[in-house]
Amino acid sequence: MLDLLIQHATLPDGRQDQSIAVQNGRIVDVAPGLHAPAHDTLDAQGLLLSPPFVDAHFHLDSALSYGQPRVNQSGTLLEGIALWGELKPHLTHDAIVERALRYCDWAVGRGLLAIRSHVDVCDDRLLAVQALLQVKRQVAPYLDLQLVAFPQDGVLRSPTALANLKRALDLGVEVVGGIPHFERTMAQGSDSVQLLCELAAERGLLVDMHCDESDDPMSRHVETLALHTQRLGLQGRVTGSHLTSMHSMDNYYVSKLLALMAEADLGVVANPLINITLQGRHDSYPKRRGMTRVPEQLAAGLTVAFGQDCVMDPWYSLGSGDLLEVASMGLHVAQMTSQAAMRQCFEAITTAPARLLHLKDYGLAPGCHADFVLLDARDPVEALRLKPARLRVYRRGQCIAQTAASPTQLSLPGRPEATQFRL
Ligand SMILES: [Zn+2]
Repeated sequence: MLDLLIQHATLPDGRQDQSIAVQNGRIVDVAPGLHAPAHDTLDAQGLLLSPPFVDAHFHLDSALSYGQPRVNQSGTLLEGIALWGELKPHLTHDAIVERALRYCDWAVGRGLLAIRSHVDVCDDRLLAVQALLQVKRQVAPYLDLQLVAFPQDGVLRSPTALANLKRALDLGVEVVGGIPHFERTMAQGSDSVQLLCELAAERGLLVDMHCDESDDPMSRHVETLALHTQRLGLQGRVTGSHLTSMHSMDNYYVSKLLALMAEADLGVVANPLINITLQGRHDSYPKRRGMTRVPEQLAAGLTVAFGQDCVMDPWYSLGSGDLLEVASMGLHVAQMTSQAAMRQCFEAITTAPARLLHLKDYGLAPGCHADFVLLDARDPVEALRLKPARLRVYRRGQCIAQTAASPTQLSLPGRPEATQFRL
């Protein structure tokens, strides 16, 4: 007897009329037209069943702090950093935990079941680290939270950051972060990349750095990141987040750089909502978009994910944990409007970030965890277009969130009584 049998589902790769059989929290079979007794069955009615969304880049310690102690009036990166500095002394363990848990509720409702969150370690109390480690344990039954030790004020620039970062790793934070473009000089930025990659190699950890989040085409720390990844044998274990300076770099230099990144099997995370709002702020017109070169990175064979980065915090007043909104923005900013490119945008919030996070047993295949989302859309492109209700969200075969489909009722002469925004 199966625990769960889902029938008539469409999968993200285009296969239609598929059945998914679940036993003991795992997928045991995926095939068309399965019939077997099950405790619970669900007719997907041809709708899209996707593996859960994965956010490769987030800041859970600042999320949902909107308005504390005041709102970012200009909306700029620099006012955001200043605001975070004002908020930090007032943070409490319980307030961080409460906001983080609330955001995880939102995430689950959106079908987002794995998040890599940076946590600021430039606080000698390590308040946010302790709080998010507690949240990680608390949400583990329903959401995978992976933490990155992030030295927001610069691992070399801030006097206690390196010691704090190592303490955070000792406490169980599992990924080494960095911010080379924020160090005092280019040279110190390079030194920080080397130091942090060596630390990760020594401890057998993954790396994910905020790297070159700048419009300065000479901000080339990604080159150094690729070098040390290759030198230390960390291929496939290192991610460069943002990489916005690549938007402004010289094309010839990028053609050399992409090959180095591919050699290092460097992961890439673009954060389209944040990049399009924070970059290009010093421009008059034309204003640069600032997002990294996603189509070219994909063509070079790199794994590229789209991240949410911020929700209702000092840097960004908007957002709701909806990775379809994130991917939709990425699609527009990168002009990835071909059918194949739109599907790649869907992969950039599902399979690609799952690879960057080294998530185990992720996907819709026998042996994988029975974690999936039923969307009120018929395929990935329609999901990106409509950002529809996540009808049911499953974790280990259990339904943990439901949202009703809500067609709009119409009262128009001679017209249908409702519309679902479909042809
Ligand atoms: Zn970030």
